[in-house]
Amino acid sequence: MPLLDPAHRPTLHGGGATAVEPATGEPLASFTLAAPADVESAAAEAAAAQRSWARTPYTERAAVLRRAGDLITEHAAELSEWIIREAGSVPGKAEFEIRTAAEECYEAAALAHHPLGQVLPSAAPRLSYATRVPAGVVGVIAPFNVPLVLAMRSVAPALALGNAVVLKPDPRTAVCGGHAVAAVFAAAGLPEGLLHVLPGGAEAGQALVGDRHVRVISFTGSTNAGRDVGALAARHLKRAHLELGGNSAFLVLEDADLDAAMSAAAWASFFHQGQICMSSGRHLVHASLYEEYIERLAAKADSLAVGDPYREDVQLGPVIDRGQRDRVHGLVEASTAAGARLAAGGSHRELFYRPTVLADVDDRSPAYAEEVFGPVAPVRKFHTTDEAVALANDTAYGLALGVVTRDTARALELAERIPTGLLHINDQTVNDEPVAPMGGLAASGTGAHFGGTANLDAFTETRWTTVRATPAGYPL
Ligand code: NAD
Repeated sequence: MPLLDPAHRPTLHGGGATAVEPATGEPLASFTLAAPADVESAAAEAAAAQRSWARTPYTERAAVLRRAGDLITEHAAELSEWIIREAGSVPGKAEFEIRTAAEECYEAAALAHHPLGQVLPSAAPRLSYATRVPAGVVGVIAPFNVPLVLAMRSVAPALALGNAVVLKPDPRTAVCGGHAVAAVFAAAGLPEGLLHVLPGGAEAGQALVGDRHVRVISFTGSTNAGRDVGALAARHLKRAHLELGGNSAFLVLEDADLDAAMSAAAWASFFHQGQICMSSGRHLVHASLYEEYIERLAAKADSLAVGDPYREDVQLGPVIDRGQRDRVHGLVEASTAAGARLAAGGSHRELFYRPTVLADVDDRSPAYAEEVFGPVAPVRKFHTTDEAVALANDTAYGLALGVVTRDTARALELAERIPTGLLHINDQTVNDEPVAPMGGLAASGTGAHFGGTANLDAFTETRWTTVRATPAGYPL
């Protein structure tokens, strides 16, 4: 039986909306959009259900998470089809999402039996210890680009640690980033009321952040929206984990092996049409390799097939919608108008944007200076290590850094001078593993992390407890 069979459908709240296939413009399904009032009732229900879930033995919570991981794997074909069609992903990217989402569930299952705290020294004759307790209701706001994983990386650990969750996926990926998550947990036996999925826009997101029952917000999305979420969460005195945008540098030093580096270079900017927060938006290449690098990257870009990932064998699918395509194209055109050289791409058919290489970019090239979130590789030359470090640092963001060199000790030393949340030596910037702490600095996030034991900090609070054998005496 398919996972997304009506029998397993979660309760979706609000008015009508349509899931659309970006490659064809075809409607795929209809679903309901959440209004702020739906958020309020879902959060209240979640808060009521959370109390008994927190008391449920960890073995039972872990079992639900393991079953959820198994179900994702068992239903990989069905879930992949949604990720390919609704999010415009090539099959390889869908496979990555399925595998990673299942791993997120298995890792979360292991968190459920993680030691809960520490026994502390105390100057008084008492037992003193600190324990982690569930935060309560966690609000998860997720983006369209890697919809299943970016929802699951917060939903799974939050549930495993005894919380209830209200998930607000992007309406453009309401099924594969929302409905599918609800269906997986319903089929895995998660008790009623603990997980609510409410696809909706910014208004529903704001309602979630402001809701009195929601104690922790996990937000993944743009820096602009993250600022609003952070400000509102601060006003309500609640914790907000913000994973935001990036404009990551891919640094190619003069001793780099270009034969080996070019596939990483292309992946860094073209994987999933560049719609990845960690995409390399700034290729910084030593002057001695610069022309050859541009020539090779442009040839690679020209060789890639762009089209409908569900019906054709392609390396790149469509970007998510017209707004995104027009934004990407506007940044490319503004950059060439400001003096950048178009070495490949720069054109589109419908939502299929050709992988694009921009050479001779500088600070006046918006495709270099800003996050593009499209398949664009801006390349800039440097002459000295100090110049490379200065260029890499010249950004508001601090998400990922890739360095390619034969001298790994030098790369480590150089990277010490570039603040970044993620560092990959002899690799490109797009990397994710559920056991690794994922998070960015500065405009890329609050420095909070998801992944592995970082999830314990994200989705629990700490309680200090003392116990004496008899009542304490005081000088009063
Ligand atoms: P977006 O910020 O517009 O939307 C992300 C989510 O937030 C959606 O669910 C959206 O409906 C909701 N939202 C939008 N405005 C909101 C508001 N004011 N209050 C509450 N919720 C709001 O992001 P996008 O442009 O669709 O996604 C791409 C962005 O996400 C890029 O900047 C990318 O770098 C970033 N991103 C970051 C990570 C990470 O882990 N750091 C991962 C993926 C994407």
